[in-house]
Amino acid sequence: MSDSALLTIDRERFQEDFDTLSSFGATAEGGVNRPAFSAAHRAARRWFAGRAEEAGLVVHVDGASNHSASLTFPGAEKTLVIGSHLDSVPTGGRFDGAYGVLAALEVLRRVKEAGLQLSVNLMAIDFTDEESHYVEFLGSRAFTGVLPLAELQTPHAAPMREAIAGLGLDLEAMAGSGRDAREFAGYLELHIEQGPRLINSSTDIGIVESIVGLRFSRLVFTGQADHAGTTPMEIRRNAGLGAAAFTLALHELLDTDFPNCVGNVGNMAFTPGVTNVVSRQVTVDFEFRFPDEQQGDALEAVIEDRIASIAEQFDLEFEITPTGRARSAQTDPALQRAVGDAAERLGLSAMTMHSGAGHDAQIMSAFTPACVIFIPSVGGISHNPAEFSTREDCENGANVLLQTVLSQSGG
Ligand SMILES: [Zn+2]
Repeated sequence: MSDSALLTIDRERFQEDFDTLSSFGATAEGGVNRPAFSAAHRAARRWFAGRAEEAGLVVHVDGASNHSASLTFPGAEKTLVIGSHLDSVPTGGRFDGAYGVLAALEVLRRVKEAGLQLSVNLMAIDFTDEESHYVEFLGSRAFTGVLPLAELQTPHAAPMREAIAGLGLDLEAMAGSGRDAREFAGYLELHIEQGPRLINSSTDIGIVESIVGLRFSRLVFTGQADHAGTTPMEIRRNAGLGAAAFTLALHELLDTDFPNCVGNVGNMAFTPGVTNVVSRQVTVDFEFRFPDEQQGDALEAVIEDRIASIAEQFDLEFEITPTGRARSAQTDPALQRAVGDAAERLGLSAMTMHSGAGHDAQIMSAFTPACVIFIPSVGGISHNPAEFSTREDCENGANVLLQTVLSQSGG
C-alpha cells in the first residue's frame, strides 16, 4: 500500500465550502431552493466553477450546461468521473447532490495538492437537472448521448425551453453533447442515503448495488363540462372522479400487489378549474419506481388496466403519455469491492444496499462502470429542508470517495 492510501480531505475547507454552497438558494426553513436553471442554481454553479479554477483545475461547461472540473496527468488516457448535482427540488435540503459535487471537487484538490501522478485523469462533474424538474436526468443523459433532440422539442419540454431562454444554450447543442464512452474509466457518485437503513443499523457507508428504475407519466382524463348546480349527478362525466379514483387505486395496488415498488401522484390540474363547473378534464402527473425492469413492466401493465377500468366506470376518455423514464441499474461489482476496501482501510463499517432514489449513476452505469457511495441520513429524511447528515459522516464519505478514486488510478 502506498503512502497516499491514507490521504484524507481537508476537513476545514470542506466544511467551509459546504456552508458557502448551502447559502445559494437558502430558504428560511434551512434548506435550499435551487431548481435547474434558476438564478440560485446558476449562482451555485458559478461558485463551483470559481472554486475549481482557484484550485488550478480546468473548468468546462458542455452544451447541456453540465459543469465539470478536470485534473489531467501526462500519459493518462482515460478519465474517471466523480460527481453528482447542484440542483435541488424546490423544497430541497442542503445535502442532496451538493454534497457529492463538493466531495468530488475536494478529491481533485487533494490529489493535486499531494502532487500525485495518477494513471487516469479525474473529472468532478455537476450534472444538469438531476432532479428532473424539466427533463428526466437531462445532464447525464446528454453526457452519455441518450437524450434525443426530439424529446427536447415536445410540449412537455416547453417549460425547460422557457427556462433556458437567454442563457446561451440551445437544444441541438444539448442533445449533441454526448461523449465517447471509450474516454472514460468509470463513474463514482457520493450521496446521502435519503433513507433510514444506514442510520438505523449504525453503519458508516452504504455501497449501492442496484438503483431503482422509474417511470413518469402524464394521465389525462376527459369528461364533459356541465353546470355543477343543474346537471343531475348520475349523468355527469366528471374527470375529477377519474383522477381521485386513480390516486387511491395506485396507492392500493402498490400496497397489496407490488410490495417492492412505490408510486406517487404528484400533481393534478383541473379544467376549467372552478367549483361551479363539472370538471371537463384533469391532468394527473404520476410516477412509479421498481427494483428491476420485469417488475416495472408488470406494474405498468396493471396501472394501465386500472386506468382503463376507472375511465369506463366514470364514462371518461383517457390518454397516458410517458414523460420520463430511467431503467433500473446494477452498479459495477469491481467498484463495489473498491468502495468496501476503501471503507475498511479507513476503519469504517459498510454494507451493500439498494437505492430507492434515482441518481445520475443509473444513467452513467449504462455508459461506463459506475457505483454510488451512501452516507447516513439522519431520520432518513430527504427532499426536505430538514435533510441532515453529520459532519463526521460527510467527512467519512468524502474520504472513502478519495480512497476509492486512488485505488482506481494507481495513486
Ligand atoms: Zn440527489
